Amino acid sequence: MKTPTQTNAIDFDSAKLQRLGFGQPSPLAQRPVGLAQLRQQLGLQLQTSLEPQRILGLFFREVQRLVPLDAMVYQHTPSDLRLEFGLRGHHSVSYSLSHEGEPMGELVFRRNQRFNDQEQGNLESLLSSLLYPMRNALLYRAATRSALRDPLTDTGNRIAMDQTLQREIEMARRHTQPLSLLMLDIDHFKRINDNHGHSAGDEVLKAVAAAIKGQLRNVDMVFRFGGEEFLILLSNTGRDAAAMIGERLRHATQTHDYRVDGQPIELTVSLGCSTLLPGESSDSLLRRADSALYVAKREGRNRLAMAG
Ligand code: GH3
Ligand code: MG
Ligand code: MG
Repeated sequence: MKTPTQTNAIDFDSAKLQRLGFGQPSPLAQRPVGLAQLRQQLGLQLQTSLEPQRILGLFFREVQRLVPLDAMVYQHTPSDLRLEFGLRGHHSVSYSLSHEGEPMGELVFRRNQRFNDQEQGNLESLLSSLLYPMRNALLYRAATRSALRDPLTDTGNRIAMDQTLQREIEMARRHTQPLSLLMLDIDHFKRINDNHGHSAGDEVLKAVAAAIKGQLRNVDMVFRFGGEEFLILLSNTGRDAAAMIGERLRHATQTHDYRVDGQPIELTVSLGCSTLLPGESSDSLLRRADSALYVAKREGRNRLAMAG
């Protein structure tokens, strides 16, 4: 997912970093260094960013002044983060990072030559310089992400949707690619609340969101638009392909096994689909999807309607 996370590198005093032998790759920056000196330099340099990509990129580059590497992979599943640096390598050493019991991700170093004991010791020692920078970066990422997510359904919220829609419209224009939008509304959702209670309704909303996300490659493009309404942005997708995806979502949400107190409940959704017109605004694109959704409801629900 890549949520619309901003780039949050603090612009640090790069002149000072140059003097310490950092800055852009240069023969000087690549020169070998002792463990103690490298640890000290990393300690200063890694705290200059709140961006995992940049922190780990710097780490990957600088560590090689002491321990040559072919690749490094970082993975932190709770924040949906996987970053790869370099190419491949046959041999690997991996470390689980944690801080006060909190998992902070897995780091794998790779290269074609085996790592000797001293090199592994050096890597372990250098890893400690990642601790606070990465903890801060992960906390910052969690905070910015949660400001853009709907906590109940774990989909994007309205703010995320507005940002993403603007960005996708610009991209579609720049690359003259199609862009489509699906608006999905649960049919007679009020009855589910009335018959089974509001918290059962909440569970059903979560399940519908999961069913939608299960059908899409890019789950970052699913947003909760209103109470029981979702919006799905389909980049580089024209009208016909969007209709197929809409139909697939209709089917998947209908056949999903929803249960309340162990009892299965039936549910259908209606969808409206619009495809960006030349020069069209985001408001107009949304309005046309909404009108199509209204047509789908009027024509009997449990169906997809295409905007004219
Ligand atoms: P239609 O087929 O015309 O869409 O009928 P509907 O009943 O789904 O639509 P209506 O707009 O009449 O009702 C939507 C209901 O969704 C009303 C509201 O109480 C419920 N709802 C909105 N947000 C939430 C929520 O977060 N949790 C629960 N449980 N219910 C919600
Ligand atoms: Mg509705
Ligand atoms: Mg509804």
